[in-house]
Amino acid sequence: GKGAAMVTAVAYRLAEQSRQIAQILSEFRLTTEQLLEVTRERSTQDSATVKMLPTFVQSTPDGSENGDFLALDLGGTNFRVLMVKIRSGKRRTVEMHNKIYAIPLEVMQGTGEELFDHIVQCISDFLDYMGMKNARLPLGFTFSFPCRQTKLDAGILVTWTKGFKATDCEGEDVVGLLREAIKRREEFELDVVAIVNDTVGTMMTCAYEEPTCEVGLIAGTGSNACYMEEMKNIEMIEGDEGQMCVNMEWGAFGDNGCLDDIRTEYDRSVDDFSLNPGKQRYEKMCSGMYLGEIVRNILIDMTKKGFLFRGQISETLKTRGIFETKFLSQIESDRLALLQVRSILQHLGLDSSCDDSIIVKEVCGAVSRRAAQLCGAGMAAVVDKIRENRGLDHLDITVGVDGTLYKLHPHFSRIMHQTVNELAPQCNVNFLLSEDGSGKGAALITAVGCRLRQELNS
Ligand code: BGC
Ligand code: MG
Repeated sequence: GKGAAMVTAVAYRLAEQSRQIAQILSEFRLTTEQLLEVTRERSTQDSATVKMLPTFVQSTPDGSENGDFLALDLGGTNFRVLMVKIRSGKRRTVEMHNKIYAIPLEVMQGTGEELFDHIVQCISDFLDYMGMKNARLPLGFTFSFPCRQTKLDAGILVTWTKGFKATDCEGEDVVGLLREAIKRREEFELDVVAIVNDTVGTMMTCAYEEPTCEVGLIAGTGSNACYMEEMKNIEMIEGDEGQMCVNMEWGAFGDNGCLDDIRTEYDRSVDDFSLNPGKQRYEKMCSGMYLGEIVRNILIDMTKKGFLFRGQISETLKTRGIFETKFLSQIESDRLALLQVRSILQHLGLDSSCDDSIIVKEVCGAVSRRAAQLCGAGMAAVVDKIRENRGLDHLDITVGVDGTLYKLHPHFSRIMHQTVNELAPQCNVNFLLSEDGSGKGAALITAVGCRLRQELNS
């Protein structure tokens, strides 16, 4: 009768709906073959879109580092100023004090002068707090953006990434900008010794504890890696002896179109509305700043199609940046009952049914799984390259890791590790979490910088 026909119609609609949802999510599923292709592209493209920047860090720590240092950490989730006291000798110790400061959006995207004045203002506050205004401390500047370095204490900003877009900085030496801002303030002096990428700081921090650490990885707001490369393979730098750490800037991978086959319409729309359209395409598929945005774009599409939120696109859903890494991590936690997922969504202002929350969780899972796999494919390329460099059949290596996505997300690290094992079977990769990597690493590099300078002068 009529009732049965209606039930059939509803059942049909629901089946069709789940088929379409599955279809959308399947675009995020990558086969091993596709991932291997990413790994292969990655290793053949080093000179093309991936910049491979020399860092002037030529050795990992040896335990002789010593002194009191100031460090800045700019470009991750938080801006921090740190005081790091390193003691060498039989009982090596590192003592750290730090304060987190906010960088308002209008400062991140205002003028370069405002940004650097703000940074120096924060340093001033910190020095007051520590009671060290008159010390003229050596400083290491962790600046987590691509910089073309000509020495340890000079780095020209190639391009802003992530949420930064201050004017008059690109093409400028960032150390110079910092020194000028310190001068403008006429309140204290500092000795800026090193500019350090966060990947390099992370590698150094882990290498301080574990000498087999020769790779650094950040899976956080942004995504990037560095590794110790043979000098003879670094064309930009003279000399063939020894090694130097190379900042890969792998976030820019794909900017030449080589990832287009696996990018979805949602990736393209996240890219289009970002601060740097067309750039950092790999980063936009696998780092914390963008995963939530991909999720949001899928949810909007599904809502438009009537699969979610009763077909109503709320103001919240239209708001960029609502799904921060910490929310994705909560939503995907297996310890959380669906009711709690629902309450997180509610808290974000998304009025959802139980069915909605199931779908949202699935969407988050598909997006973060792909991110972890892509990141793993990149890492597989790095470790396999090091293995080949050394003409080895088998390589044991440690990767120092930091970043909110790696640390907070319930599945990212595991899936990433699995992918590396699968794609680089000849390498045994040990991942070491770096606690407070950027600040400590910058201080260690600064310590070496100070020592080398003394040696030169004596
Ligand atoms: C930057 C890298 C940085 C990474 C992680 C990227 O956007 O280009 O320099 O290492 O983010 O913070
Ligand atoms: Mg960081």
